[in-house]
Amino acid sequence: MSEHQHPVLARLEELQRGDLPTHGGRTLAYVYDAGLPEVDRVARAAVAAYAATNGLDPTAFPSVLVMENEVVGATCDLLDAPASAVGTVTSGGTESVLLAVQAARDARPDLAAAGLRPRMVVPSTIHAAFHKAAHYFGVETVVVPVGPDFRADVAATRAAVAADADRTVLVAVSAPSYAHGVVDPVAEVAAIAAEHGVRCHVDACIGGWVLPYAARLGRAVPPWTFAVPGVTSISVDLHKYAYAPKGTSVLLHRDAGLRRPQFFAEADWPGYTMLNTTMQSTKSGGPLAGAWAVLRTIGDAGYLELTRTVLDGVDRLVAGLADLPGLDLVAAPDSTLVAVAADGSCDVFTVADELAVDGWLAQPQLSYAGQPPTLHLSLSAATDVAGLLVALRRAVEAARAAGPVALDADVVGFVQALDPATLDDAALDGLLAAVGMGADADGGLALPERMGEVNALLDVASPALREALLSAFLDRLSRPVRGGGPGSGPGSGR
Ligand SMILES: *Cc1c(COP(=O)(O)O)cnc(C)c1O
Repeated sequence: MSEHQHPVLARLEELQRGDLPTHGGRTLAYVYDAGLPEVDRVARAAVAAYAATNGLDPTAFPSVLVMENEVVGATCDLLDAPASAVGTVTSGGTESVLLAVQAARDARPDLAAAGLRPRMVVPSTIHAAFHKAAHYFGVETVVVPVGPDFRADVAATRAAVAADADRTVLVAVSAPSYAHGVVDPVAEVAAIAAEHGVRCHVDACIGGWVLPYAARLGRAVPPWTFAVPGVTSISVDLHKYAYAPKGTSVLLHRDAGLRRPQFFAEADWPGYTMLNTTMQSTKSGGPLAGAWAVLRTIGDAGYLELTRTVLDGVDRLVAGLADLPGLDLVAAPDSTLVAVAADGSCDVFTVADELAVDGWLAQPQLSYAGQPPTLHLSLSAATDVAGLLVALRRAVEAARAAGPVALDADVVGFVQALDPATLDDAALDGLLAAVGMGADADGGLALPERMGEVNALLDVASPALREALLSAFLDRLSRPVRGGGPGSGPGSGR
């Protein structure tokens, strides 16, 4: 602790030391590092300056409106939006997706009036946020398996829409998909949607700030922006590859009429007339100010350079993987996301554990629909790819030497026979303890040092059982720490 540091801040710093690093480019999911200290400095100052500002009411805090309109305008410029386009800054990709689905549903009040359930057609690779939206808003999800190239299957999508076009309120695709990093055939799918008068959302949450610059750098990028007829809305996260602090995404609509059902107004109560553009009402001005500041600090030329850096890194990773026995590229990456699978000589969960030993986080993706488990690597401009390749090579060698995680056949049989619907709390506690995710001596939850066995066991479980187990785990993690409020801190002697 430095001489002048406040003791409370010192405690925060101490707590934070147990977290994954947000900078340095070794955390290959969750965080995105431009590697530019000035950007961080400006971003933090902007977030702090607006931390107490309430974004609920732009007439009370007009600067919030100025920043939002400028950020949305910059996003429109980047994504070939027509003059009619409008947008909203949201808290993240999930909120942008939720609002896109909600607006699509509420644009069709006739369905609810007729007692019909709205439906949306999505490829199986669509982000889980769409399933969350379907769950929240009562929309039926029609999941269309992707082709062997992991891209949306155009013919199957056409058939799925046509099967009940009247109830279809939305078709969605990704640019690119999170799990495999490839761009869907947006033009073809958007044309199908347009034919039926259905909205088409492009989820560019993770690629939206990369692909336009990739195209400018001369890379082959299939069309996916508002330049594609039929695309009605696009989501782009600023807290991913715009390298902004956490808490901002942009949802754009082709015109104001498409956005209208997204807004919520409530005048029929005795308090202030509530007017919301997003799911949040009171919201900090901090993230928006942070994003606004980062966009200006990096600038167009800066993003072009950052994109060149990260995509050169992707090229070097792909080339390096080609002569790295043990791991195979799942699909040639269209952007900054790389998925790798094991070739049978090792397992990806052990590789992830070994990478963690060297300070690298690769995100395990469990098997799905007959596809093997993979590791997800989101590269950043700050990622040292040569170092990553060294770490991967060592991790694969160690994983090969260790052999695959050996699961007891009886345990596998037991897990596969479980019906998640009938599991009570005691059974869930038993299962969590069995995989090393049980309560420790203090009643807190301890994760095993190595996650290989946990992941291997989750991998043989059905998606429903995975959901039940991990929800139970999170439930047991999320428990109040009592007696730690005001009065217990270092300032309590005041
Ligand atoms: C990250 C992501 C989301 C969800 O965004 P959050 O910011 O995590 O809420 C949605 N879609 C895609 C493709 C993503 O990569």
